[in-house]
Amino acid sequence: MRKTLYIKFILAYVLFAIFGFIVVATFVSSMTLDQCRQKKANSLYKEATTIANSYAADLYSSEVSLDSVTRQLTALSSYIGADIWIINPSGRMVVESGITLDPSREVYVDGFNPTEFAGHLYTEGTFFGFYKEEHLSVLAPIVTNYRTNGYVVIHVPESTISAEAAAQLNISYLELLILLLLSLIILIFFTEIVYIPLRKITKATEQYAAGNMHYRFSVDSEDEMGYLAASLNYMASEIARQEDDQKKFIANVSHDFRSPLTSIRGFLTAMLDGTIPTGMHEKYLRVVLNETERLTKLTNGLLTLNNLNMNGMLLQRTDFDINDTIRSVAASFEQTCREKSVQIDLVLLGNVLYVNADRDKIEQVLYNLVDNAVKFSHRDSAVKIETSERHSKVFVSVKDSGIGIPKDDQKLIFDRFYKTDLSRGKDKKGTGLGLSIVREILRAHDENINVISTEGVGSEFIFSLKRSGLNDQLED
Ligand code: ADP
Repeated sequence: MRKTLYIKFILAYVLFAIFGFIVVATFVSSMTLDQCRQKKANSLYKEATTIANSYAADLYSSEVSLDSVTRQLTALSSYIGADIWIINPSGRMVVESGITLDPSREVYVDGFNPTEFAGHLYTEGTFFGFYKEEHLSVLAPIVTNYRTNGYVVIHVPESTISAEAAAQLNISYLELLILLLLSLIILIFFTEIVYIPLRKITKATEQYAAGNMHYRFSVDSEDEMGYLAASLNYMASEIARQEDDQKKFIANVSHDFRSPLTSIRGFLTAMLDGTIPTGMHEKYLRVVLNETERLTKLTNGLLTLNNLNMNGMLLQRTDFDINDTIRSVAASFEQTCREKSVQIDLVLLGNVLYVNADRDKIEQVLYNLVDNAVKFSHRDSAVKIETSERHSKVFVSVKDSGIGIPKDDQKLIFDRFYKTDLSRGKDKKGTGLGLSIVREILRAHDENINVISTEGVGSEFIFSLKRSGLNDQLED
């Protein structure tokens, strides 16, 4: 495809040149010849009329001698490059330029018939067989006292007219040649602006089709070509990034599934082959149960993320009391908190605080945040959940005084499967999916989440929600 486009364009250019020359050689050539002939005939006719009204008329009224008229007309004829005659209506030659006629030998133009000129400015041919070659002849009557005494006839060889036309045609050829050379500029522009970028784009699409999404190219123009190239580059980089993400994701999933499975297998094998005595079975079966719980959590987390991605935009927004939701989420952690001796303090704005969001999903966000806060809190500490309001937003903060998150990890904890090294020892059941679920849910709501944390001091997660108009109605 690449080569043919250029060849097609060159072919079009060559065809343009050939047609140009054909047109000049045919139409323009015949038009130029016609025009030259017409012009010549016009000027000769004017000349003939002038002669008919001056020298010739004087000759017939015997005011000038034949000799004098012959000399004058001979001079004029060599000046205009034509034969000038004065001829009687009968066809007898009276004056022939360049020749002194012998009065004793009368010269006749046989078959001379002036009516053949009627309605025409000129005739073409051998002038009643007088000439051997083709001539263009014009005729003007010499009229004195309302009588036609004779005619002034001027002849010019056709070859003279053809030569003049040929000279003019050469100019047309030259013009065409200049035009063709100038239009080469278009070819150069086409190559630079269209063909070279298109070739780069085609090469890139070949690479992408072959699966090489990391191939990069550049087209430095700010037109549609540049835009197309930039879009293609962007598309490829996005696909490459997604491919990389997918690979990373699969590697993470495999790794996270493999470790509990390995430990389950290890414990079960040890129990079967008697390495673990029967008396200890219960203890290790509990460990196995814990591992299966972790696998279940992992699978559920993956399913939730997948559903969020597929139905990300399908939120069931309602107006609900976020304070109430917070209370019920906090209540569900009562048992865990008691075991860990962690206290949950609620600092809620107003009695009720309505927000507009998908209640179930926000409940999940709160659950994941409180779960982390309790999980990473030290014994005998407190987790504070606070609501506040600014402009048309409601902010929910979940704050703990636990292990904290190292600065470098803070932007990564929302990625799938990411766990900080600090937390690994404290939480063996963590999947690293909780915060990515939180982020996806808030993203679908067009809301944000931020983390403020100091390693060893504690962490605070703050997210925003849309304040509901119901609050104002209740105030009124
Ligand atoms: P996990 O199931 O491991 O808790 P998350 O996505 O919820 O997965 O959290 C990712 C990681 O972020 C955790 O493993 C932990 O390292 C860190 N993290 C999250 N919340 C807290 C917190 N409140 N305090 C300290 N570290 C936290």
